[in-house]
Amino acid sequence: MPGGILELIGRDVVLGDGGYLIELERRGCVATGSGQDKGKQWTPEVAVENPEALRQLHREFLGAGSMVLQALTFFGSREKLTRAGYGAKTEVINQAAVRIARDVAGDRALVAGTISRTQLFEREGPSAAGHVRDLFAEQIRILDDTGVDFLILETFFRLDEMLIALACARSTGLPIIATMTFRPRLTSTADGHSPEECSKTLLGEGAQIVGANCEQEPKRILLVVRAMRQAVDAPVAVQPAAFRTTDETPCFCLLPQFPDELETIHVSRHEFFDLASHARTEGIGYLGGCCGCNAAYIRAMAGGLSATKHRGAGAGALPWV
Ligand SMILES: [Zn+2]
Repeated sequence: MPGGILELIGRDVVLGDGGYLIELERRGCVATGSGQDKGKQWTPEVAVENPEALRQLHREFLGAGSMVLQALTFFGSREKLTRAGYGAKTEVINQAAVRIARDVAGDRALVAGTISRTQLFEREGPSAAGHVRDLFAEQIRILDDTGVDFLILETFFRLDEMLIALACARSTGLPIIATMTFRPRLTSTADGHSPEECSKTLLGEGAQIVGANCEQEPKRILLVVRAMRQAVDAPVAVQPAAFRTTDETPCFCLLPQFPDELETIHVSRHEFFDLASHARTEGIGYLGGCCGCNAAYIRAMAGGLSATKHRGAGAGALPWV
């Protein structure tokens, strides 16, 4: 694909891909941690255990219009993989994930390496910072050496942990998209920083695009990215989840339907079409989907983007804002 991610975002909204782990769990290839395999909780060993399933999902996203394929390296740190029994294969799993994405992408899409929170800050507190830094440094080095086009730092609940990942990512010289996840409240990260503060800080610390992903459906996450967008002079990234949340619990992973009854709270693809239709007027530069977004949702967003392409703006007000 000609041009790097920043050049593409400079031209128009870039359509990313959707969520891998929840979709692959539905297909029987990923464990939720709620069953017998307690250690295997949303870990990405499918890249070596069932590479054809991963390859197929990449193909579906590409066919739906994704301009970026994310290598399935979410929760791929050595520590998280060790808890799942795959620590010795950390390098192999991360390399395989990048190679599979690249193989499917060919010259039709960019490949992003994904780095997510380690969960150590939640378990051990800020004293884990040194260990966390080593884990990010190792995983980012593997992704960079294997050959990703850029990095997406995503699903960070705490700004302090994100800043460690960002410092490690910056040393590669690769473009960086950094997206926070807001829970349990929309107004601040778990360590007490507002969306506005996050976007300013992350841009100041070397991310090129900032935004939010996961936990909320389009209509709720839009409130967060609007706040982020208004604080900075740059396009934002948004990758909503596809599950209906509530005012009391605005994050699907804290709802009782997570993880085994998610089908009962699935949001329709029309909400994603509507978001995409207004992406340009909302200042969104990178638009994808997170948990619950399969290829049908990406296709709906591709439709929303192309429906408004020649009008230069979204068609009227969003139906839900
Ligand atoms: Zn997600």
